[in-house]
Amino acid sequence: MRERGLNRREFLQAGAAAGTAAALVAGTPGIWAQTGERTTPAVTATWANKTMRWAQLTLTEDDPATFDARFWLDYFQRTKSDGACLSGGGCVAYYPTEVPFHHRSQWLGSRDVLGELVTGCRNMNMAVLIRTDPHATYEDAKAAHPEWIAVTADGQPRRHWASPEMWVTCALGPYNFEFMTAVHKELAQKYRPDGIFMNRWDGSGDCYCESCRTNFRKATGLELPRTRDPQDAGRRAFLEWRRKRLIEVLDLWNGEIRAINPVSSIVPNNGSGAQSPLDSVETSRRAPMLAADRQARHGLEAPWLVGKSAKEFRATMGDKPVAGLFGIGLEEPYRWKDSVTSSAEIRIWALDAIANDMRPWFSKFSGTLRDERWLAGVEDMYVWAQKNEAYLAGRKPMARVGLVYSQQTAWYVPGSKAEDAALGWYQALVESRIPFEMVHDRLLDPARLAAYRTLILPNIVALSDAQCAQLRAFVERGGNVVATGETSLSDEWGARRKNFGLAELFGVDWTGKIEPKMQNSYIRLEHEAVPKSPMFAGLEDAQRVVNGVSRVDVKPRASFAETPFTLIPSYPDLPMEKVYPRVAKTDISCLYLRQAGGRVAYFPFDIDRTFWEVLSEDHLKMMRNALLWAHNEPRVVEVEGPGLLDVTAWRNTHAITVHLVNLTNPMALKGPYRGFFPVGPHSVKVTLPQGV
Ligand SMILES: [Zn+2]
Repeated sequence: MRERGLNRREFLQAGAAAGTAAALVAGTPGIWAQTGERTTPAVTATWANKTMRWAQLTLTEDDPATFDARFWLDYFQRTKSDGACLSGGGCVAYYPTEVPFHHRSQWLGSRDVLGELVTGCRNMNMAVLIRTDPHATYEDAKAAHPEWIAVTADGQPRRHWASPEMWVTCALGPYNFEFMTAVHKELAQKYRPDGIFMNRWDGSGDCYCESCRTNFRKATGLELPRTRDPQDAGRRAFLEWRRKRLIEVLDLWNGEIRAINPVSSIVPNNGSGAQSPLDSVETSRRAPMLAADRQARHGLEAPWLVGKSAKEFRATMGDKPVAGLFGIGLEEPYRWKDSVTSSAEIRIWALDAIANDMRPWFSKFSGTLRDERWLAGVEDMYVWAQKNEAYLAGRKPMARVGLVYSQQTAWYVPGSKAEDAALGWYQALVESRIPFEMVHDRLLDPARLAAYRTLILPNIVALSDAQCAQLRAFVERGGNVVATGETSLSDEWGARRKNFGLAELFGVDWTGKIEPKMQNSYIRLEHEAVPKSPMFAGLEDAQRVVNGVSRVDVKPRASFAETPFTLIPSYPDLPMEKVYPRVAKTDISCLYLRQAGGRVAYFPFDIDRTFWEVLSEDHLKMMRNALLWAHNEPRVVEVEGPGLLDVTAWRNTHAITVHLVNLTNPMALKGPYRGFFPVGPHSVKVTLPQGV
């Protein structure tokens, strides 16, 4: 498309049959140089940057006896995969290792299965990561090195929960620091991989072994905590110490393998998002790429959750590539690790990952194929991705809205339900077709925020004074904020403040009261007082709507120009004869709107969390109206037409790419897609950046 030099007004639609449609605008090469990039591209290892499609084969111990390596190498080629992740060692070694107690596959014989696969992939010019998994070991290792084994709270060595002949290892002691270091050095020397992909490297829950006890005491002077309450000083110190210790071991491994191959890297497999126990900012700093291991829905989940994962990884990785690690089976507590799910489900999951700028990475457990149904679908998608590589590579988001998430809120205020509030906004933004990014609350410096015009703070309870100052400065620079609930009511450790850290921004003070569970409460729309308020878009004929559930009682610092929504307090919901409002009207506002440099909209209740729970359209409209009022600029992309679409917009040196992922499906919010439902036509309007 680039070669034919399309006029930038020409829109092309591609891949609609695959469940996604891309509207592409070709531009002049290098045009973005004139418009100012968002951030300077990070220096990344070439292999990490250039690899666009990953293939992962996780071998089982008996595979060396039965699997057909040629089949897999051929499949890597057919799928145009340019990177491979291959099983190396840790739990089972697939090569003739010399490291003591490094368990060789019982079926290995004299073969070097890893070596065969590495050579095959290198011959096809593929990047190679070697996978290790250190989380479990064997009886002989335990007998010789009892200090390698994790210990339970009652002092017993911990057996593996699924393979009882094995033992769970301690991630924070000599097993990782010494044994796995030796394994990684051996792998780096023998095979010179581009990186080592570490699975389950960060431990399997709390450990009470001797080295954990001693090291924790040495670092903090404290004994290992016996409580899981994050407000307990000992527990808090432990969480901090564990995070630091895991970063130490990453640094150790990186140092050792980079001494052998300077461009190689440990690629730790870890979660992202508010709920991740690891410090995402620190892990992201240490890797030239990461793989987002969000293989499929857990239970019943919307397919846009994989896009959320992409946005969370990008929040801490910046311009560095993120691979979307997807599985082909069901992800359930019953662990059908060898299963294959419907082609439509695999497809929608992987396509939403691609549309959110993750590089596809399929993950197959077991080299012995027992169900081949997935092969053609994945191949089809990979071929499509390769064909469209020019539009998928080296791009930056055009989104101007940032949804903030907070690991410290999840760590230290676990009851906050901030994740549900974020999910509510996510759903609302997808339904509203507003492209957006996620923003880590510890990365709020002006350079990082320069790309955003509006930040959403969904019940971000724990914010430090410094973070509050950064947010105030953002608004002083003209940035806009939409906040909800208990945002900034605690400091970074989750300790309650007397008032909002952002009281000045919201223009209200906390009275000290929170109404935790409003039953049968409503919101009155003040049409007479504020006629034609933009808050009423789509609600012109509504006199009142349902309220949220939890309300923060506040006192305005000054009078607000407009109060579009007021509280109708809870009244009995039974017996039915008693269900009538005791108070028809109050002057208690449910939305505070003010200008303070930029615009600030504050909902003093859990509208977003309630929306995620109840999915009331009225809440959706109120959230969207407040956001659009605050944002106050033409949308980056406007999509007209039917259906539920995940809309994302990108630019690279020669193109603007808009993805419309067609989520329209009776299973959309639960995820088990059986097929696709074409929707359209759609019109797509793009606001081009200045100078284009
Ligand atoms: Zn331990």
